[in-house]
Amino acid sequence: MNKIVIIGGGIAGLSAGIFAQKNGFDSVILEKHHTLGGECTGWDRQGYHIDGCIHWLVGTKEGTPLRNLWDTVGALDGVEIYHPESFMAVEHGDVTVHFYRDIERLKSSWLEISPEDKDIIEEFCIDIKRLHSFSMPAGKPMDMMNIIEKAKLMLSMKDAGMIMKKYGKVTFKAFSDRFKHPALKMAIYSFMPDGDYSVSSIIFALGMFTGDQSSIPIGGSKAMAQRMIERYTSLGGTIEPSCEVVDLDIKGDRVQKIKCKNGKIFEGDFIIAACDANTLYERLLNGKYSDPRFQKRFKNSKVYPLASNIYVGIGYEGTMEDIPRTLKFPVESIDIKQNKKPIEHLQMTHYAYEPDFAPQGHTVITFAINQFQDELEVWEALYKDKEAYNNEKKRIGEAVIKTMEKRFPHMVGKLKLLDVASPQTYEHYCNAYRGAFMGFWPTLSGKPLQHTGRIKGLKNMVLSGQWLQPPGGLPIAVITGKDTIMRLRKKLN
Ligand SMILES: Cc1cc2nc3c(=O)[nH]c(=O)nc-3n(C[C@H](O)[C@H](O)[C@H](O)COP(=O)(O)OP(=O)(O)OC[C@H]3O[C@@H](n4cnc5c(N)ncnc54)[C@H](O)[C@@H]3O)c2cc1C
Repeated sequence: MNKIVIIGGGIAGLSAGIFAQKNGFDSVILEKHHTLGGECTGWDRQGYHIDGCIHWLVGTKEGTPLRNLWDTVGALDGVEIYHPESFMAVEHGDVTVHFYRDIERLKSSWLEISPEDKDIIEEFCIDIKRLHSFSMPAGKPMDMMNIIEKAKLMLSMKDAGMIMKKYGKVTFKAFSDRFKHPALKMAIYSFMPDGDYSVSSIIFALGMFTGDQSSIPIGGSKAMAQRMIERYTSLGGTIEPSCEVVDLDIKGDRVQKIKCKNGKIFEGDFIIAACDANTLYERLLNGKYSDPRFQKRFKNSKVYPLASNIYVGIGYEGTMEDIPRTLKFPVESIDIKQNKKPIEHLQMTHYAYEPDFAPQGHTVITFAINQFQDELEVWEALYKDKEAYNNEKKRIGEAVIKTMEKRFPHMVGKLKLLDVASPQTYEHYCNAYRGAFMGFWPTLSGKPLQHTGRIKGLKNMVLSGQWLQPPGGLPIAVITGKDTIMRLRKKLN
């Protein structure tokens, strides 16, 4: 029986492990952290549970290829799915703009706000709706398809291609400028106020959401990862937690030995690196097997930016059912020194629909503040002085609470800072390069990467995971884990 060693127990590593076991391989997953799941995780603080990942899971709709894949890996089997009525609500002055799941309701609520924007509102809704015909493909990878299968795939992606053509080169700013009403302008613009990020990302997100293809599994991210761990071990897979791979013994074109920080050594016929791409190329392969497509991207952060987060967890002594699950509200002054430009909005998500995440009568709330290249460099420098780093996190958390109290005066004295994660947190726990939570962010000038994971010069090792294809995230992690095993099976006939 062929033995596969998988480096990294995130969603990609677990998916590869499950498909390896299902296909008659003998596999082991080596994971740096003491628990598996990677960035798909959550953590407990002071009686609350902070969900660290799933805001939206694409592939929750029954009968779609991606849903079938999630079920196969045990992620959603028998799990209740929560369908929030709005993707987000954005406050501007005394107007609240809702991105409703029901696209007709979205349209009528926007028309009510701004009848003079009728043409652009209707066009926006038609284009979002066009994506209802699109399901993320989760069958064979493209490189394994014959010509007929490729033609069928292209046909099924006709509408998605049309949307990319129309919006792929349009920035959030340019698109928001097409609206006359300041609140509607701001609702679009505030997603990505700076940079040349393509507005197509939000059109796709809304297409998936309003087409009922993305929702939230009850129990959250950690529970979902746990179900996949159980599926993997029930199929006979072995897990090695707290087992960080630090060195590879390479002879000729083969990896012979995998050496871990805890002294353990593993050997396998095949090795799947389901860890961060930069960790693989730079740390484990010491820059000797560089891939020009990745190098080009890592070197040009303007065209291929990475995004991370400051992620603030707050416990609220009260309930919030009457407040939209995800709400963005304007802030006058929040002092985040890392950001060159002042932050104009804060985005909060509350978990009132998850009673087990907080003590009875309380609610857990998270805030995600995007961090890009310049900010990431500031965090890297700050991390060298642990005391200053911890003080800065605390200061940001307290500033968020003050802002929250200003927006919701009835919450004064009832908000408790639970935790602040920074880009360095993701780097520390997951070896995530620059704390990135997805692959390269789509910009107008960047070309999407499509990679099979092959490492030139190595015959028995491949890369898998969120870095291989856009748009990254959990769907790409689960798909690429499966694809890696499909390619391996083909290689072995
Ligand atoms: C705050 C936040 C919110 C997010 N929200 C969403 C969302 O709403 N929807 C969505 O689809 N996606 C979301 N994502 C993205 C999603 O979490 C990731 O895209 C996905 O989990 C990546 O999976 P992966 O297996 O490819 O990589 P990872 O999760 O990074 O897994 C890699 C694993 O490898 C391990 N590892 C690294 N180096 C080594 C080594 N040398 N030895 C052993 N193990 C190693 C790491 O510890 C980690 O467990 C979010 C991420 C974050 C951080």
